[in-house]
Amino acid sequence: MPLVIAMDGPSGSGKSSASKGVARALGLRYLDTGAMYRAMTWWMLREGVPVEDAGAVAARAAEPVIESGTDPDAPTITVDGIDVSGPIRTREVTNAVSAVSSVPAVRERLVALQREIIGAGGIVVEGRDIGTVVAPGASVKVYLTASEEARAARRAKDLAADPDASVSRTQAEQARRDRLDSTRTASPLARAGDAEEIDSTELTLGEVVEAVVRLAKE
Ligand code: C5P
Repeated sequence: MPLVIAMDGPSGSGKSSASKGVARALGLRYLDTGAMYRAMTWWMLREGVPVEDAGAVAARAAEPVIESGTDPDAPTITVDGIDVSGPIRTREVTNAVSAVSSVPAVRERLVALQREIIGAGGIVVEGRDIGTVVAPGASVKVYLTASEEARAARRAKDLAADPDASVSRTQAEQARRDRLDSTRTASPLARAGDAEEIDSTELTLGEVVEAVVRLAKE
């Protein structure tokens, strides 16, 4: 069975950089499932759908056409043909995404799309439910963590262009998102029983990539 590497973990744990690094090191494709939930959320906000209303979100969940590229050097994400790679990273989308991703109709649709992209494998997939729901048969499962402070500092750095992105506010918003993601009924963020936990707090990106590559070669 070709390689499928599942990379799950909370926000800011370093999943994206590590997943892309592993894909490059092993010559695999890369899929950012969080970007797909963000793209769905961006579309709902643009359409004026009240994102806290699960029924309203479910009623429109089948409409947007979401497409993800899988090149780790140039990941792309479009909605109805529009490049949304920038807009999906705004605070507005970040703070609304947990509500949208807790709606079962959204998850069913995106999980089906993700499985189609994963296809026969040869891919690193990052998200919250990859090892548990999307690809429970994945050859390698990693649950990446880091201390709350380290995670908030990374996120704030990502948001450096936003003058309001203080570490403390980012930390509070991130804690809220993690709480919503791990307490929702539909596929909550959780470590798969057979996932290897890697704490990246004291590790460099290169060390995390190396650890995952080692697991993949075992
Ligand atoms: O990984 P990222 O922080 O971009 O994910 C954005 C949001 O998408 C998460 O906070 C979560 O609500 C949702 N998500 C999810 N399942 C995934 C990936 C992301 O519910 N597999």
